Amino acid sequence: MIRRYRVGWLFTMCGAPIQDATVMVEDDRIVGIEETGIWHDAVDLSQWAVMPALVNAHTHLEFSNLKHPLGTQGMTFPQWITEVIRYRQGFGEDLAVEKAQAIRHGLKQCAEHGVGVVGEIATLPLMEVAYDRPDVQVVSMLEILGLDPERKEERFGQAREHAVYLWSHENVTAGLSPHAPYSAGMGIVDECVKLSRQYQLPLAMHLAESLEELELLEKGTGPFRMMLEHMGLFREEDFPGGKKPAEYIEHLAPAYRAMVVHGNYLSEPEIALLKKYQETMSVCYCPRTHAYFHHDRHPMEALLADGIRVVLGTDSRASSPDLDLWAELQHVAQTFPNIPAEQLLPMVTRDAAFALGLEGSFGTIDAGQKAMATAFHVGSDCPDVLSAMLAERPRLWNLGVGLTQLDLATA
Ligand SMILES: [Zn+2]
Repeated sequence: MIRRYRVGWLFTMCGAPIQDATVMVEDDRIVGIEETGIWHDAVDLSQWAVMPALVNAHTHLEFSNLKHPLGTQGMTFPQWITEVIRYRQGFGEDLAVEKAQAIRHGLKQCAEHGVGVVGEIATLPLMEVAYDRPDVQVVSMLEILGLDPERKEERFGQAREHAVYLWSHENVTAGLSPHAPYSAGMGIVDECVKLSRQYQLPLAMHLAESLEELELLEKGTGPFRMMLEHMGLFREEDFPGGKKPAEYIEHLAPAYRAMVVHGNYLSEPEIALLKKYQETMSVCYCPRTHAYFHHDRHPMEALLADGIRVVLGTDSRASSPDLDLWAELQHVAQTFPNIPAEQLLPMVTRDAAFALGLEGSFGTIDAGQKAMATAFHVGSDCPDVLSAMLAERPRLWNLGVGLTQLDLATA
């Protein structure tokens, strides 16, 4: 059965927005778009702006039951990591049950904020059952940790198993996340890159996130060294000094897709490298998490000026007040008023879908794409549709199953 929707404004993300367009959907896919299109059976959505379902490129759903971020604003990053470890250990034997419930709760929060795709950093044991929510696509990126050479094979095994995992839900695909320079050796990065190329998987690595990370790499000193020593994990040969995030970018670049998560302290030579590798690499900025740690101004303008894909993520509720991706975009609009609003939209749709390797189904509104959309009620005589959208609340719509009164409620 073909469903038709005549919308006030259509943001396809493959060209200029179309005023008064009809979207045609069959089963769960879009089959065509017509300008105007006079169909007596089309659902009247003339007061709505419609765009592809929002893509949250980076979060950790297992923290979604937190009511407030961990620690305090402006604390150092290693202090916060210690809080995260303590939080996880606090569940003891209940961790799996708590985790499954938090992931479910997190996906619900995403959908309520108009998000239809999530790049989620998963940890073992894998809570596959919690991904059972057909309206949200999950890219389950397994976090691979490890500095200990004796456990290298075990970590590689986990990565390989995840790369070929047979999901029981259609809305899940795999990815890998070599965690961060202070927690994953270069051997792990290289193994993840190999699997990424072999199985066309997206990778995500926390990189150039904090000044403490840069100090550990450059000098082998600082709060991260103290933390690792305390955990019995520090070895001089891992952090001999003289290292930079650039080295990790070089190693990640051959991946099918690789996302530098945060990139708060990317330097000019690193931005030049990302430009060189822009066909496979993206940078994920998590604006409100960035603000929580009082980091220096994010280099997103320099990245955009070089044509590098910048995408947005909420990161987890351990550092962000909620999983509202649109609030992250609003934060960027306020912090960087010189970036035109139309340049912000690809960061939460087309480019984010590409970063997660899902551009064949998500991120644009076009024939063949999944019929998941995000919609904004903008009224019929809207002089500035983008400003109206920025001030509005996004809804996640499944155009493949039709719209309910609740979907269309404007109060
Ligand atoms: Zn993260």
